[in-house]
Amino acid sequence: MHPNDPALKSFIDVAEQSDFPIQNLPFGIFSTAAQPQARAGVAVGDWVLDLSVLESKGLLKPAAHDVFGDATLNAFIGLGRQMWRETREAISLLLRHDNPVLRDDAVLRSLALVSRSEVQMHLPIKVGGYTDFYSSKEHATNVGSMFRDPANALLPNWLHLPVGYNGRASSVIVSGVDVRRPMGQVKPPSAEQPLFAACAKLDFELETAFIIGGDTALGAAVTVSEAEPLMFGMVLLNDWSARDIQQWEYVPLGPFNAKTFATSISPWIVTMEALEPFRVPGPVQAPEPLPYLRQSGAHSFDIALSVDLQPENAEKPTTICRTNYRAMYWSMAQQLAHHTVSGCNVSVGDLMASGTISGATPDSCGSMLELSWNGQRPLTLVDGITQRSFLEDGDRVTLRGWCQGAGYRIGFGEVAARVLPVLPNRC
Ligand code: MN
Repeated sequence: MHPNDPALKSFIDVAEQSDFPIQNLPFGIFSTAAQPQARAGVAVGDWVLDLSVLESKGLLKPAAHDVFGDATLNAFIGLGRQMWRETREAISLLLRHDNPVLRDDAVLRSLALVSRSEVQMHLPIKVGGYTDFYSSKEHATNVGSMFRDPANALLPNWLHLPVGYNGRASSVIVSGVDVRRPMGQVKPPSAEQPLFAACAKLDFELETAFIIGGDTALGAAVTVSEAEPLMFGMVLLNDWSARDIQQWEYVPLGPFNAKTFATSISPWIVTMEALEPFRVPGPVQAPEPLPYLRQSGAHSFDIALSVDLQPENAEKPTTICRTNYRAMYWSMAQQLAHHTVSGCNVSVGDLMASGTISGATPDSCGSMLELSWNGQRPLTLVDGITQRSFLEDGDRVTLRGWCQGAGYRIGFGEVAARVLPVLPNRC
């Protein structure tokens, strides 16, 4: 049976609402208090399967040298697509209900299975380069309407190329690492001169990202048809944004300090192979793109997404956004083809983010900027009292994503972080 077969069952009980059934098998890097060395694992139900244990026992051997004891997945990812497939197939076999190898070996189970409640997750990859695109037509239209002209919301290039910018890899952090409110240069509309201040318009951006699984040569463009096999998997991504800093600094080269202070990703990388059953066509592209961006067939994915916001002393979170990845205008393959068309090379572990994912309705916007319409329409949270236009200190933001199958889901887990106040000595 194929690892994606919905009929597959594990000897490990997995709840129907779990993000991590046997059909998913996302890869991550974890450690435990008892064994603090970071190593590779796969999530299944409420457990983590320790791949370094299986590798040391000879049950998984993707390479001549050990790769799953590494503190990042880069070496494994660099082995290539055939090895990703074979490894996933071998893990799937080990977890099946009718396979006694792990199921009936109590000693091996106690070594190789760790409760997810006991693990600390780490950044799963060493990120060499981070690129952020801007590929939701609804998001770009909202921002263009707000800051420019609702009648000409999209800039002339937008329908012809996937707009993007090179972000900062050094500040990519894993879910659970809190984010400090940045200081920076701002120029409020009433001020004659810019000033140095704490960001007053701190925001999140709901995004997904794909992870590059191979190295390309400088000068070699990746075609749209070559692009998908170069992708290892996807994560959720929160592109934290300081809107007031951004508004003053972004002309003419795009965001700089407004984006570089932190970018959070979810710890489990869902493989492109696990997402395959949820492939759907993207929107019709008109005007037709130039030949190097032309694609036929289904190149988007049906991924439900949500955002929760919970203030520090709130009893319950408020779900402030529900949307879906599938409506993204430019596909990931088109993004990668465009990224490399000039001859720019990419490397294992490069992170390519979608851009803010917004839907067509007011409750499907993927940023506070759009949800509150730049502060003009503050949101009221579930307590009926608390309002938010942008993020306040102590707020916790949680992004979730999943593909809904019949009786199971291929989930991403979550990417969550809390907003910390600026350091006192910097005010
Ligand atoms: Mn972004």
